[in-house]
Amino acid sequence: MAQVTLEQVRKVYPNGNEAVQTCSFEIPDGEFVVLVGPSGCGKSTLLRMVAGREEISDGSLYIGDNIVNDVDPADRNIAMVFQNYALYPHMTVERNMGYGLRNRGIPKAEIAEKVREAASMLNLTEFLERRPSQLSGGQRQRVAMGRAIVRQPELFLFDEPLSNLDAKLRNQMRIEIKALQRRLGTTAVYVTHDQVEAMTMADRIIVLNQGRIEQIGTPSDVYNHPASTFVASFIGAPPMNLLPASVGADQALTLADGTVLSGRAPEGAPASVLVGVRPEDVVLGSGDIPFTIDIIEELGALRLLHGRLGGAAFSVSIGKDEQAETGEVKIGLKQGAVHVFDPTSERRI
Ligand code: ADP
Repeated sequence: MAQVTLEQVRKVYPNGNEAVQTCSFEIPDGEFVVLVGPSGCGKSTLLRMVAGREEISDGSLYIGDNIVNDVDPADRNIAMVFQNYALYPHMTVERNMGYGLRNRGIPKAEIAEKVREAASMLNLTEFLERRPSQLSGGQRQRVAMGRAIVRQPELFLFDEPLSNLDAKLRNQMRIEIKALQRRLGTTAVYVTHDQVEAMTMADRIIVLNQGRIEQIGTPSDVYNHPASTFVASFIGAPPMNLLPASVGADQALTLADGTVLSGRAPEGAPASVLVGVRPEDVVLGSGDIPFTIDIIEELGALRLLHGRLGGAAFSVSIGKDEQAETGEVKIGLKQGAVHVFDPTSERRI
């Protein structure tokens, strides 16, 4: 078991590309942390630095109490699970799972015991004699997990491990991985571009944007108190609506078309702001804000209403039992629905 600490860590590739700007954070022992952000934001670079597969340009990386900047990946006591599983096609499941242990010269009987235990945990016992080509995608992913587990590492590192699976299997595997990590209590760092995966699996989320940390927080923090317009738009589907507004003398928020919102801007807000409203924080038919519905998307459990409010695009999410038709309706905002951002810094006010 181990905590992971990054102190002023930065990565500049030899071509001058600053893939990870100076960042510091700590992952307590046993925590499941998800690094999330769009493609190219630096999450794999960050993970590879922790794994020892990428040199750290500046700063210190600790696993437990030790600085490991210059420690070989093989000596970091970590196990990595990849998107492509990285299984050996000519080896059986049993040999694939035991591979890392055989390399370390651990006695055969001990390896067999550890592999049996992991296979049982992962429902792979009946597949031990098969080769990877004779397994489904989900089973291959479990073998990759098994290979990580048998090594009893201090730290699991996951690099988009579910992106090759279909949507249904992905949902199932994310529950399995999370449950397994809980059961083993091993610290985990998990990289994904999928905000749903981040929200559902993480104890804490680190949102990255262009090599910079935008926010670190629990899924609930990040969702309910996004620190920037980037986080507000990236976490949540459909994303938070963002509307330009002006701030009056009494901190009242007025949209471009003159619509006055129920929330107030915090003290110190600039004259122009961006107002954020989550699509589900709206009450249809119980307010005085005009909303024009152009398109209704039926999603089964809920309906999405896409249209215009205050001169800008706006989406509303309603439950399946609520009715809506295209055209103009009046809406109200739930208590605490209004988030206010500085349009220049794009940070929450
Ligand atoms: P992500 O995993 O979030 O998609 P990466 O960590 O792979 O992002 O990449 C972050 C940035 O660093 C991107 O701009 C990418 O093009 C760049 N990058 C990645 N690997 C290298 C490399 N070996 N040399 C130069 N730039 C790189």
